[in-house]
Amino acid sequence: MVAKEPLVYVDGQWFPKSSASISVYDHGMLYGDGVFEGIRVYKGVIFQFKEHLDRLYSSAKSIKLQVPLTPQDLTRAIVETLKRNGLKDAYIRLVVTRGVGDLGVDPRKCRKASVIVITEPVDPTFGMITKQKGISVIFSSVRRDAVDATTHEIKSLNYLNSVMAKQEALDAGADDALMLDRNGFVSEATTTNLFIVKDGDIFTPPSTSGILPGVTRKRIIHLSRDLGYRVIEKALTPFDVTNADEAFLTGTLSEIVPLVTVRGITVGDGKVGAITREIMESFVKVRSDPKDGLPIYQETERIVNRK
Ligand code: PMP
Repeated sequence: MVAKEPLVYVDGQWFPKSSASISVYDHGMLYGDGVFEGIRVYKGVIFQFKEHLDRLYSSAKSIKLQVPLTPQDLTRAIVETLKRNGLKDAYIRLVVTRGVGDLGVDPRKCRKASVIVITEPVDPTFGMITKQKGISVIFSSVRRDAVDATTHEIKSLNYLNSVMAKQEALDAGADDALMLDRNGFVSEATTTNLFIVKDGDIFTPPSTSGILPGVTRKRIIHLSRDLGYRVIEKALTPFDVTNADEAFLTGTLSEIVPLVTVRGITVGDGKVGAITREIMESFVKVRSDPKDGLPIYQETERIVNRK
């Protein structure tokens, strides 16, 4: 039996994965000119959906990119794509490209932005072994893009900065890389935010350190405070990280991943720390809570219409 191909939404229509495409003249392809979001669905609830949608529109606004759909219509397109693919536990890749233009960089030549929604199944146990074992990172020699340049506050289609750091990490035999900002403060990993634990308090770099302000990061800050911890947003030095009691990374797909080695130096006792473990366990409870997202199989229309 031939497996049914997943459907991908492109500008108002659904295409089988193998034939879903955009033009080679799209400036998203030619210049990385566009924005995106990665979103998780747990048990039919789109986790932190409003937060992701808000970030998409903020990213677009900051590069003067007109998203051709209202938030309500975009929500409908996403929910419909999930339903057509029969997905309850999934990853959504939402992409808005500048659209078709000429070969010059001038965005005014692109008449209409394109919207793409890709959905793929993700087993809730995804990444389990990595979460239990933790990962190793280096400090990359590639500096994070500056906040007065192509700042990572914009979740843009240009990820070369992260790609180069990831390559460096893999060449060094590490799993990933922590990246420093222009001033040498620790920013984030290639596709995740950083937290460290020291003397019972939790620290994470602020957006002035060149980070993408992660949706998961924000949720973890609140969750940790609810658990009674002090969470402090503060510029961190490489020394702070190598001398942390515990460290972990957060992101939509990877959720919470403990860091056990940094530049060959063992973090804490080299095992997943007790506070990290407590936060991981609490996160599993909130991630499919309908209060934390948009339930797609029950109340979607009511929620969409209420906006
Ligand atoms: N930093 C970068 C550079 C990212 O690409 C991402 C998203 N994978 C994150 C941090 C984590 O953000 P979020 O929690 O919103 O997925």
